Amino acid sequence: MDQERLHIAIIASPGMGHLIPVLLLGNRLANYHYLQVTILAVTTQTLPVESQLLSTLNDAKNINIIKIPIPDISTLLQPNDAVVTQLAIMMREARQSIRSAISAMTPHPHVLICDLFSSESLPIAEEFHMQKYVYVPCLPRFLALTTYLHVLDKKVTGQYVDQIVPLKIPGCEPVLCEDVPDPMLDRTNRQYDEYVRMGIDFTTLSDGILLNTWRDMDSASLDALKYNEDLRSVVKVPVYDIGPLTREIDPTSSEGNKVIEWLDMQPRDSVLFVSFGSGGTLSAEQMIELAWGLELSKQRFVWVVRPPAGRATDGAFFTGGTDQDRSVPDFLPEGYLTRTQKFGLVIPSWAPQVKILNHPSVGGFLSHCGLNSVYESIKGGVPMIAWPLYAEQRLNATILVEEMGVAIRPAVLPAKKMVEREEIEMMVRSLMEGVEGNTMRERVKVLRESAKEALGIKGSSYKSMCEFISCCGMKMKSVKHNSKD
Ligand code: UDP
Repeated sequence: MDQERLHIAIIASPGMGHLIPVLLLGNRLANYHYLQVTILAVTTQTLPVESQLLSTLNDAKNINIIKIPIPDISTLLQPNDAVVTQLAIMMREARQSIRSAISAMTPHPHVLICDLFSSESLPIAEEFHMQKYVYVPCLPRFLALTTYLHVLDKKVTGQYVDQIVPLKIPGCEPVLCEDVPDPMLDRTNRQYDEYVRMGIDFTTLSDGILLNTWRDMDSASLDALKYNEDLRSVVKVPVYDIGPLTREIDPTSSEGNKVIEWLDMQPRDSVLFVSFGSGGTLSAEQMIELAWGLELSKQRFVWVVRPPAGRATDGAFFTGGTDQDRSVPDFLPEGYLTRTQKFGLVIPSWAPQVKILNHPSVGGFLSHCGLNSVYESIKGGVPMIAWPLYAEQRLNATILVEEMGVAIRPAVLPAKKMVEREEIEMMVRSLMEGVEGNTMRERVKVLRESAKEALGIKGSSYKSMCEFISCCGMKMKSVKHNSKD
């Protein structure tokens, strides 16, 4: 009987930001649609949070996880290779191990889903007569831009960032040149070639694309991906909007109880949460401005602080002193912890973000706009200050601010120019105590309901996932039938 059950293997590239969406997809398929799921996680597992996450899901959620060691790519790298290049090379070199892992599974899974950086493994699926899909945990506009990029590559001369006219993608709002994802910043860098190649892979090597979004998020781009003839002539394969898949609070975890106890004592919607994802850092100067901005705003805050860019991470940098200020790291203003201790909580390196964003006292999120964070914020009903740093975050920020109306942002792009303390103070006040903040809070709650509805039975994302599964089921039967002939 188990042999009849649809078995889906999903590849996860290294890094929390890549592993989390894959685990969420696996969890959804295994626990809501009762499919057999194996995750092939390319991971070093040196990060304690990463192994904790893997073990929790492995034990509790009916998913089989196979760890694939990260290959040594040191001889293949050039000085200053960007993260996208490194990930692409890593996943290219991991193909042999991925192939061996699939080959060792008897019977082989029926479907292979590759994540953003592992699309070059799609041909392995062909070899084992598996169906092949790509999972894109990004907003529709990003997928539209990525798949359309090889067309833009022929049409646009010069650097994208120097274009005066925004980039046109059929059926979508044009992409401002300053919003292009990192790999498009410099067309002479080899990460650009990898990125163009990825977009082509998605549409030429796969049977379809799963997108972690839902009907009401960046909906014009989603419609364009599904129905616009000009864009469809490039995308070709079906696009399934199956999200938003986000992390749930783990009721068994006691992680971060202290923060929660502190939040329990604060008034409703009064605390700003400040965090820059799993790895985001600021420059030393920008950290000082942010520290001052928060302090001057006089609003309550919880800030996940990491040493500034270029400094080694030291998770213990706040410990080792009875007087709180004796252990203040030198990258915060002098006396900072003492001055802010009545209304601010500074947490080194890592915090239980999902728990925090779902706490009733939290009323705002200063976020780098990584998509997991964005969805967690929406699920918590929390509006944002958009502070994009890298990857596709500038594009996400523009969509959240200009089109969805659930975030505000500084006048300058934080990755390019310093955001001054006065502006930070003003934004924080406007989000936490202004009319604008309240309006956005209402809007984000409407969006939260629409996301919930989309994922519920009869909802658009649920239906879309069922369509994908039924398509896989039909093909699985036809493969079986043919192999009997
Ligand atoms: N995260 C967390 N605690 C932290 C920082 C990050 O739990 O202190 C989680 C966060 O909840 C999210 C993920 O790490 O699920 C970060 O993903 P995102 O897409 O937001 O950003 P990335 O790390 O990929 O830039």
